[in-house]
Amino acid sequence: TDITTLLLSRIRDVADYPEPGVMFKDITPLLADPAAFTALTDALAEIAGGTGATKIVGLEARGFILGAPVAVRAGVGFIPVRKAGKLPGATLSQAYDLEYGSAEIEVHAEDLTAGDRVLVIDDVLATGGTAEASLQLIRRAGAEVAGLAVLMELGFLGGRARLEPSLAGAPLESLLTI
Ligand code: 5GP
Repeated sequence: TDITTLLLSRIRDVADYPEPGVMFKDITPLLADPAAFTALTDALAEIAGGTGATKIVGLEARGFILGAPVAVRAGVGFIPVRKAGKLPGATLSQAYDLEYGSAEIEVHAEDLTAGDRVLVIDDVLATGGTAEASLQLIRRAGAEVAGLAVLMELGFLGGRARLEPSLAGAPLESLLTI
């Protein structure tokens, strides 16, 4: 089967979640299907190899589920970027704006250093706010951004354009765009 068709067929639309008017893309059926999850892992690992990434950053929480097997497959380390207050060691923090209010993500400062080429992995790119903050964190840690790879890009939300400055020429790879 064509991988695009396979992946799309395993993503479930959930109306009015987490709030009215939002059509949520639920990837749990894809995770539960070993053929689809393996195909996704392989595709992302190929992207990782192509970027020459030396580390994978996964964004909490679904970026952990996708990023960890990709790191193992690509033979590079996995670094979690977490919501504020979850990491026990010394952290770098980055705040970003949400539609209402703001959020903050963190990484262990010692996990990223100069000389690292970092590929960020997440499930869905929506407005790009989360990904943008993660790219800023990586740069502030002194590491280089190898790129951003997502399963699905919600094109109508304009995340790609928003990320252009922080990607600074690094690739944004999305396996599916809607
Ligand atoms: P953004 O910061 O780009 O607006 O939102 C992206 C973050 O929210 C990602 O970490 C992603 O997991 C989550 N997200 C936003 N919309 C969806 C969705 O429809 N489905 C899933 N699975 N995650 C979403």
